[in-house]
Amino acid sequence: MNLLHKNDRLGKYPPSLYAATRNRIAPFPRLEGEQRADVVVIGAGYTGLSAALHLAEAGRRVILLEAHRVGFGASGRNGGQLGSGQRLEVDDLESIAGRQAARRLWDLAEEAKRITRDLASRANVPVADGIAHAFRKPGEFDHAKAMSERLARDYDYEQIEPMERDAFRALLPSDAYLAGELDHGAGHLHPLNLAIGMAQLAHEAGASIHELSEVTGIEHARNATGKTTVTTPNGQVTCDHLILATNGYLGTLEPKVATRVMPINNFIIATEPLGDRAMQVLTRNIGVHDTKFVVNYWRLDPEGRLIFGGGENVSYNFPSDIAAKVRKPLLEIYPGLKDVGITHAWGGTLAITMNRLPCFIRPAPNCLSASGFSGHGLAIATLAGKLMAQAVQGQSEGFDTMAALPSPAFPGGAMLRFPLLVVGMSWFSLRDRLGI
Ligand SMILES: Cc1cc2nc3c(=O)[nH]c(=O)nc-3n(C[C@H](O)[C@H](O)[C@H](O)COP(=O)(O)OP(=O)(O)OC[C@H]3O[C@@H](n4cnc5c(N)ncnc54)[C@H](O)[C@@H]3O)c2cc1C
Repeated sequence: MNLLHKNDRLGKYPPSLYAATRNRIAPFPRLEGEQRADVVVIGAGYTGLSAALHLAEAGRRVILLEAHRVGFGASGRNGGQLGSGQRLEVDDLESIAGRQAARRLWDLAEEAKRITRDLASRANVPVADGIAHAFRKPGEFDHAKAMSERLARDYDYEQIEPMERDAFRALLPSDAYLAGELDHGAGHLHPLNLAIGMAQLAHEAGASIHELSEVTGIEHARNATGKTTVTTPNGQVTCDHLILATNGYLGTLEPKVATRVMPINNFIIATEPLGDRAMQVLTRNIGVHDTKFVVNYWRLDPEGRLIFGGGENVSYNFPSDIAAKVRKPLLEIYPGLKDVGITHAWGGTLAITMNRLPCFIRPAPNCLSASGFSGHGLAIATLAGKLMAQAVQGQSEGFDTMAALPSPAFPGGAMLRFPLLVVGMSWFSLRDRLGI
């Protein structure tokens, strides 16, 4: 299933609030003719842009090929939440990988936030501090409190503030939640402007970026000393190393990744500026996500518009009325916003894995791939690009740490992964609705 062209128009950003408020950047030219590079990167989201930037800064000749525009994919459409840690909690990571590896993974995730904040600052993209986690069920607070104590004790992370009902309601005035926690070390930002800013930095560092240049074929090197060739409709590049940074838009380009990483769609709306009513949504400038399986997440933008993501979809087609779909969970949390106008509604494709850990893999000689960030990719994808850039230069400890994590194939492989997901989603969203 190739989602590169299913729900979008060639070379056009979706009708998102981000596209409407983006920093302008001149289009990059198509790839034309035969070229040569040290490294080819496919995909200009955070993963590919970060890889290209770090390689160009290290003096490598890099060509970055993007089928649409820079930041066209999940990187230009997401909730903008720069979360801490990996997608799984540290106790899960400890049971999967052991105590020492879990600590290294935590430290890598902290590095991911640092790199992302640094790039945002270089690109003049403001980051607001604070992400809250909103709890719906009684046991969730006790679990979170125990986890925050563990993080402080064993991981030197003291930024999480557990909040009982009254304190949390003062932050988030909704009856939908029993309690919550606030991670002062996390943050939120304009995601498309981050991608555009990274593209500008990579371009200035010497990377050759080509938009409207979809890779349609790869001929992998036969061995470590061989060359790889990638083909687009108008050109071809021969290179020593290839980096796949296509995430949910991979399609069938690389079967070894496709069996392990599955695309899913997710949807966001933005409202008109709320004015004084913004205080009925959040009393501080933070981002929020809740504990639903089909997660709700939201924040206010600098103009006081509510940007809210949520609602499931069991087809690869975007629904015809995204606004109506996402409005439903929004009103369950804030019934008082019934009359508020929705000005933008859009969808995006991310990628998940079986165990929700990203899939770092070497699918062929001199080829590296990182994807499947499972909804937690803003910082980790940016880190992934840097780790792949380092691996190309012979420093692969970071990449190898991530690649050592188990990365099981979906049952039924690329063919059956989606029908099975639909069954699973229906079950879990039913549980959400029943409050189980
Ligand atoms: C609606 C939504 C909300 C999200 N919210 C959050 C959030 O709040 N916080 C968070 O941490 N994560 C969030 N995520 C996940 C996060 O956005 C992703 O993990 C991250 O952006 C992945 O970056 P990437 O560069 O790997 O992939 P992408 O940004 O998807 O980039 C892949 C690029 O590859 C290009 N491409 C694919 N195939 C080809 C080809 N053959 N030739 C050339 N180019 C190709 C695509 O056009 C695309 O631009 C969200 C995702 C979505 C969709």
